[in-house]
Amino acid sequence: MKHLLAVVLFCLFSTLPLSAPDAPEHLAFTRSQLQARDFTKTTTDVHGLSLIQQYCTATLRHCTLQVPKGTTHPPVADFVFVVTTDGLRWQEVFTGADPYLMGTIAPEQQLAYQNQYGAQTPNERRAQLMPFFWSKLAKNGQIYGNRAYGNQMNVDNNLWFSYPGYNELFSGGPDDLRIWSNAKKQNPNTNVFEYLNKQAGTRGKVAAFGSWDAFPYILNENRAEFTVNAGFENRTDGPVNAEQVRLNALQHLIPANLHTGVRPDSLTWAFAKNYLQVAHPRVTLIGLGETDEYAHLGNYAGYLDAARHFDACLADLYQFIQNDPVYRGRSAILITTDHGRGNKDGWCNHHALVEGSDAIWCAVLAPNIEAKGEVKQPMQIWQKQMAQTIAYMMGFDFQCEHSVAGPINEIFE
Ligand SMILES: [Zn+2]
Repeated sequence: MKHLLAVVLFCLFSTLPLSAPDAPEHLAFTRSQLQARDFTKTTTDVHGLSLIQQYCTATLRHCTLQVPKGTTHPPVADFVFVVTTDGLRWQEVFTGADPYLMGTIAPEQQLAYQNQYGAQTPNERRAQLMPFFWSKLAKNGQIYGNRAYGNQMNVDNNLWFSYPGYNELFSGGPDDLRIWSNAKKQNPNTNVFEYLNKQAGTRGKVAAFGSWDAFPYILNENRAEFTVNAGFENRTDGPVNAEQVRLNALQHLIPANLHTGVRPDSLTWAFAKNYLQVAHPRVTLIGLGETDEYAHLGNYAGYLDAARHFDACLADLYQFIQNDPVYRGRSAILITTDHGRGNKDGWCNHHALVEGSDAIWCAVLAPNIEAKGEVKQPMQIWQKQMAQTIAYMMGFDFQCEHSVAGPINEIFE
C-alpha cells in the first residue's frame, strides 16, 4: 500500500511545485549558547554535573563547564531511547478517541470501545487511551504539539509520509529531491544514530529495532555499522540468549495479518527489550508501526488499540529503566511520530494532499529537564530538530555532510 501511494504521489509531484512551507527561523547553536544554559536546574549526578553544581552554583553562567571527553557540552542523560509510532495523530494524543470516529466502529464492538475509550471530556478520553503518557510522562516530562494552544510541531518535508518523515527525523532535515518515496533504497543521508555510533563513549553502543522492514534502508544498515533489526528479521548479531532464540522462532509462527513486512509491535518491543537487557546500548531506537497499519485499513478500533498498546510499551520501557541499575536515573526517552493524518473523514490517510497530515507531536522524559508537562505556550517546532535534540541529550553536536537543524531549545530551558 505504501509503495502504491508513493507511485501515485510521484506522478502528482511531477506536476506540483515543491514550495517549502514558511521556513522556520534558523536555530544556530553556538558553544557559548550551550554553556550559557542554566544547568543549576539539574538534580541528578550525570557525568560530574553535581561537581559543577557544587563549585559553580551561584555563578554557573560564568563558569567554564568541564565536559566529558569527546562531547561539546554536558550531557543531559547517559542513555537515550527514541520511541516512535507510525502516523499517530496529535488529535488522539491530546484529546483521546474522537467521538465522531468512534461512530465508525462496528455496532457489535461499540459498547466495549465506548466503555474503554469513550469518556465525556477530552482530558478523560486521552487518559483512557494513553494512561502512561497522561500520568507519569505528563507529570515528569514535557509534551509538545497540542494545536488547541497554538503549540505546533510540523514536518518540514513536503511529502507527509513515512520514509521522508523518518529521514527528516533521524538526519535532521528534509530531502524532498532524493527521499520522495517509501521504496526500499539505502538512505544517502547520515543519521544521528550513525553519527553517535562513531563518537567516543557511544561507539558500538547504538541499536535500532523496527516493526517496518524499511528501517534498515532508512538507517542505511549497510553503512551504519550498528544493530538494525526490523520486519521479521531474526536477531543473530551481538549477545543472543535463550529468550532471543525463542523470539526469533516465535515471530515466524504469527500470521502477518497486517501488510507484508510489518512485524507486530509487541514482538518488536520484545526484541528491543531483550537487547537492552543483554547489551545495554547507550542509544536505542524503537520504531513501532501498528497505528499506521490499522488507520490505512480504516479500522478505528484497531487504531485506538494500537495507540493504547504503544502507550503500554512506553510504560513497560519506563518500568524497565526504573528497575535496571545501569539505566535508572540516567536515561532520556524521546517519543514522536513520522507524520500526522487527515482530519475527520480523512483520518485514514496521509500525504501532501491530505490537509493536516504534516502536524505531529513529541514528548520527552529525562532526569535533567524541567517537568513542564503539557506545554501550552504557542510555538512552532519541527520534526527536523529531533536529530540534534537526540545528539544534544548525549552531549554531542551532530555534524555531517548535510546541514542539521538545531535542537528543540525549549526542552532544555
Ligand atoms: Zn501510512
